[in-house]
Amino acid sequence: MLSTKLGRVLRTTSKHLSLLESIGVQTVDDLLKYFPRAYADTSEYTKILDMRLDETNTVLGTIKSLHTIRTRTGKKLTKAIFQDETGSIEVIWFNQPHLQHYLPRNKEIVLSGKLKMTSGQLVLQSPSYEILNKYQDQVHTGRIVPVYPETEGLSSKWLREKIKPLMDEWAKLYEEYMPKDILKKEKLTDLQTAIKNIHFPESDEQLKKARERLSFDELFMLQLKVLSRKKKWQKAASKEKKAMEIKKDELNKLTDSLSFDLTNAQKRVVTEILEDLEKDYPMHRLLQGDVGSGKTIVAVIAALNAVLNGYQAVIMAPTEILAKQHYKSFLKLLKENSLNIQFISGSTSTSQKEEIIKQLKTGTCDIAIGTHSLIQDKVGFKNLGLAIIDEQHRFGVKQRSKLKEIGKSPHLLSLSATPIPRTLAITVYGDQDLSIIDEMPPGRQKIITRIVPENKRQDAYRWIEDQVLKGRQSFVICPLIDESDFLEVKSVINEYDRLSQHIFPSLEVGLLHGRLKQEEKDEIMNQFKENNTNILVSTSVIEVGIDVPNATIMIIEGSERFGLAQLHQFRGRVGRGEHQSYCFLFTQNSSQESLKRLKSMEKHHSGFKLAEIDLEIRGPGEVYGVRQSGLPDLRMASLTDSELIARARSNAEELLKNDPNLENSKKLLQKFEEIPEVYVKD
Ligand code: ADP
Ligand code: MG
Repeated sequence: MLSTKLGRVLRTTSKHLSLLESIGVQTVDDLLKYFPRAYADTSEYTKILDMRLDETNTVLGTIKSLHTIRTRTGKKLTKAIFQDETGSIEVIWFNQPHLQHYLPRNKEIVLSGKLKMTSGQLVLQSPSYEILNKYQDQVHTGRIVPVYPETEGLSSKWLREKIKPLMDEWAKLYEEYMPKDILKKEKLTDLQTAIKNIHFPESDEQLKKARERLSFDELFMLQLKVLSRKKKWQKAASKEKKAMEIKKDELNKLTDSLSFDLTNAQKRVVTEILEDLEKDYPMHRLLQGDVGSGKTIVAVIAALNAVLNGYQAVIMAPTEILAKQHYKSFLKLLKENSLNIQFISGSTSTSQKEEIIKQLKTGTCDIAIGTHSLIQDKVGFKNLGLAIIDEQHRFGVKQRSKLKEIGKSPHLLSLSATPIPRTLAITVYGDQDLSIIDEMPPGRQKIITRIVPENKRQDAYRWIEDQVLKGRQSFVICPLIDESDFLEVKSVINEYDRLSQHIFPSLEVGLLHGRLKQEEKDEIMNQFKENNTNILVSTSVIEVGIDVPNATIMIIEGSERFGLAQLHQFRGRVGRGEHQSYCFLFTQNSSQESLKRLKSMEKHHSGFKLAEIDLEIRGPGEVYGVRQSGLPDLRMASLTDSELIARARSNAEELLKNDPNLENSKKLLQKFEEIPEVYVKD
């Protein structure tokens, strides 16, 4: 059995076994699925003549002479002369006298280590070594050599030697579970071959096919998981049957009353949402759109349609300010419809709360807008048809399911201004349908964005002062400090002191950070909104979605520490009024790499485009915080491989369409059930 413990089949020490265990490798299956991190191509060894000083060089050659001496300080020094067809080099190892007997002369050996200059002589210092001939038949099938993730005490060499015989004996136990027609249609390698070739490929082509197969498996299983969960949820909830009609005439009346026309993107997503509302199982849809792309009116249209069908609607936002903003928008946009719209938050008085809850239960309140207060235990609804969650990622899984529960499976629409490339979204939020507003309303100004190097800092400050004297306002975002909330607050206070006392002594400077109480934050934001403060210094907690049209300058300190999507969100705080707006990216000691990344902020103004660039440059883990956003832990597949993700998705969709319970694919079903539920995000 592949689940056989390694201790029973591997001839090795208990130390090695416990090292393996520490990286989660306990069984034969675990070890065979401990995939190489990279491959060394023997044709890519450095020639001795081309070795670079102070860098790690990997060279293939033979040992000409080898001896151990004792230094004056009593250390044992093993010295060798190593040679390839281009030249020779001295090699030294400290305190490893056994090498003198272990390393053969005149056999091919690979050495990998740093080239150093000591007492005027070039020396390859304490390189790792691998004797090629000895294992060539077993391990080095061809010229591509697997390199495993580095773990103290477990060398790639050791792993290769152990995995190879294990593979020969056990790989045949892997049973194919992928349906034949998918294998055929996608031209995928069979499982056994893929597992063998991922460790010991004989050609680049074999390696490529092995990778493709194993990556496909991961992405396919992930899609099966999210899609079948979506089905399950729809089925469980569909008892409630909240199908609505599309009240075209009245909805048109609303859109006609607007001072603008909907963009094509807005029209498209409205249609997608309304078509969902017609179904008798609940919608589960994520609406993504850049800051300012006009998600609110879309939400208003959906809510109105629910109310016109005799249902109630709620809009839940993560903060009081955001909820209040929605409340005002809804009142304004729906003023002709004489609806009962209520606001509820932590600061609502108890008696008023009770009154609103009563109205929700009896059904006299049509639309409730608020914060977490909407999902308190006492709250209930007469007939909730639609729940809208703004900035959905700011709420936990529990809070969302609470809303579903007390609302008795309403249609659910989540809004998000965090741009995530589509391929990543169908992976991470795969159990929701996606609507994307990828077009800004016409006439929006481009926010002029510039990277400001240290030597231009003072000039920038004087320019800002000048702008403030002309009546404008500015945000200053302080660097992200990962280690501690405390340090971050400390640094923002320092920056506040510096700016208010030394740089802008004659201006009003405000300070906002996460350690303040909600009321304090609200007060500070209000002061800024009223233009009683000219410059607001803040940590990155600054509220998403806040609208201060007179603020035209966004300064971001330590900008290289933020992801592009986040920088883009900060930038979205300005450019909301009539005046030309600016975003300045301050950066102290940026590498070329991060300067290049920041440059794309100067060039691009679409959040989706920037998110894609960031995903490519930094990878999904960095960009979205693996744990935080629950990105699946993929070993082989890459979340940037959009083509393979799309293939996995469409195959999973088709399979579930034809065989919803996987009854005709028993082996796949079994495999599917082994995947832990935590593998996918809620
Ligand atoms: P967000 O997607 O960030 O929530 P909002 O819904 O707050 O964006 O919209 C931002 C601003 O754009 C609002 O003032 C809104 O009235 C306006 N707006 C929305 N749609 C359009 C449109 N199609 N044309 C012009 N202005 C629009
Ligand atoms: Mg909004």
